[in-house]
Amino acid sequence: MTVLDDARAMLATGPVCDSCLGSPFAERSFGLTNGERGRALRTAVALDDDDDFDPDGPADCWVCEGYCGTADAIADAIVGELEGTHFETYQVGTRVPPLVEENERLAREDAGLEPDVGESVKRELNREVGRRVGSKTGAEVDFDRPDVLAVVDLEAFDPLEALESETVTSHAVDVQVNPAFVYGRYRKIERDIPQTEWPCRECGGSGAQLGDDGEEPCEYCGGSGYMYDTSVEQTVRPHVVEAMDGDEGKFHGAGREDVDARMLGEGRPFVLEVKRPQRRDPDPVELERAINDAAGGVEVDGLRLATYEMVERVKEHDASKRYRADVAFGDPVDESTLKSALEELDGATVEQYTPQRVDHRRANLTRERTVYGIDGDLLEPTSAEVHVHGEGGLYIKELISGDEGRTEPSLAGLLETDAEVTALDVTGVEGEDEPFELEAYFRDDPREDTAGS
Ligand SMILES: [Zn+2]
Ligand SMILES: [Zn+2]
Repeated sequence: MTVLDDARAMLATGPVCDSCLGSPFAERSFGLTNGERGRALRTAVALDDDDDFDPDGPADCWVCEGYCGTADAIADAIVGELEGTHFETYQVGTRVPPLVEENERLAREDAGLEPDVGESVKRELNREVGRRVGSKTGAEVDFDRPDVLAVVDLEAFDPLEALESETVTSHAVDVQVNPAFVYGRYRKIERDIPQTEWPCRECGGSGAQLGDDGEEPCEYCGGSGYMYDTSVEQTVRPHVVEAMDGDEGKFHGAGREDVDARMLGEGRPFVLEVKRPQRRDPDPVELERAINDAAGGVEVDGLRLATYEMVERVKEHDASKRYRADVAFGDPVDESTLKSALEELDGATVEQYTPQRVDHRRANLTRERTVYGIDGDLLEPTSAEVHVHGEGGLYIKELISGDEGRTEPSLAGLLETDAEVTALDVTGVEGEDEPFELEAYFRDDPREDTAGS
C-alpha cells in the first residue's frame, strides 16, 4: 500500500475535508499543515485516476463535521475574550465532541488504517488556533505555565453556522488568566504588626457580635474584625493588586517573625501573588515607592517581577536568621560570666523541644539547630544586648530562657539565672547555601539601584 492508496481509501469513506484527509499522514513531511497534506494527496489521487477535481470543504466533511474550518473564527473569539488582558505567553486547549472523536476512529478503520494513526482533530485545532492567536497577539506558546490559557468547547457552537458567519460565540471560550508574582523584602520597623492579616479571634473577622439588641460592634476588636490594625500583607497587597489590575492577592513570606519582633536589616523575602492580573509588568520601582509612601510601620525593598517558582522558593529555601535581642536577667550577672556563657553557646548544637508558646496543635518533637554565632554586651548587671546568627528554625527566645529545660543548652541554663528576651529584632534572613535572589526566578532585568545583597 502506498500513501496514495491510503489516501484513496480515506476518500472512499465519504466526503472529507483537506485537514481530515491529511491528518492520518501528519507524521510525514515536516513543515506542511494537515490541510496542505490533504490537498496534495487529493490532487495527486485525482491526477492518478484522471478524475475531475472536486474537493470537499469542511462543511461537507463527515469526520470533523466542519470544525476543521473554524480555526480562524475560534481564534478571533479567543482574542476578543482576551482584550484588555496583557499577556506574553498563552496556550490553547480544545474540548472535542465525543462524536467527532468516534468519527476519526471510524474513518481510519474504514480506510484500513490504524485507529489512532496521525493526528487528531483536537491536536489539529489546538495547533491551528494557537498559531492564529499567536500571530494576532504577538504572544508565544508556553505549554508549561502560560500567562493565559484559553479552553475552547467545540460543543458550545454549531460548526456549520460558524463556517457561514465566520464567528464563534464567546460562550465557547473559557479564558483562564494565571497569577502574576512580585518578589521583594519587607522591613517591619515597628512592633506588633503581624505578617499576614489576622482576623479577630472573638468575632472571626466579622467585626460584629450579638448583643441584647441584636448585632453590635465586636468589643474585642472594636469592630474592625482584625486583631491588629494592619499587617505586612495589608500594607503591600493593595498596591500590587492595583498595579497589576488583579482580582485579589496572596502574601507568601519566607518564614515569619513574632508579631512583637521587628524585622530590620535587609528585610525578609516575600512574594505577593496576584490573581487574574490584567497587567503583568508594572514598574517595580514605582510600585515600591507607592508602597513606601503610604506605609506606616512597614517598608519594602528590592521589588522585582518574579516567576511562579519564586513562591515555592521563598517558602522552602533554607535560610539562616540574624537576631538582636534585649535580654533581662533574674539575678545580676558580671561581664566575664556572660562572655564565657556566650562563648559556650557559640557554634553549639542546641536541642529544642517544641516550645510551650508554640501552637500546641503542632506535633511536639525535639529538634537540633546550630548557633552559627552569638555575642553580646552587658548593659546593666541585669540586662544585656545579644546578637545571634542561627540556623533556620532555631527558637531564639527559648535559646535565651531555656524554656524550663526544654531547650538545652541555653543562656539562662549556663548563667544559672533566669534570662528573658524583652525585645527582639530579626536583622537578617539569608539563604543557607545560596541567596534567594537568583536571576532564574525573575522575569524582569536586574535593577541598577539595588545591590541585590
Ligand atoms: Zn474534516
Ligand atoms: Zn472582633
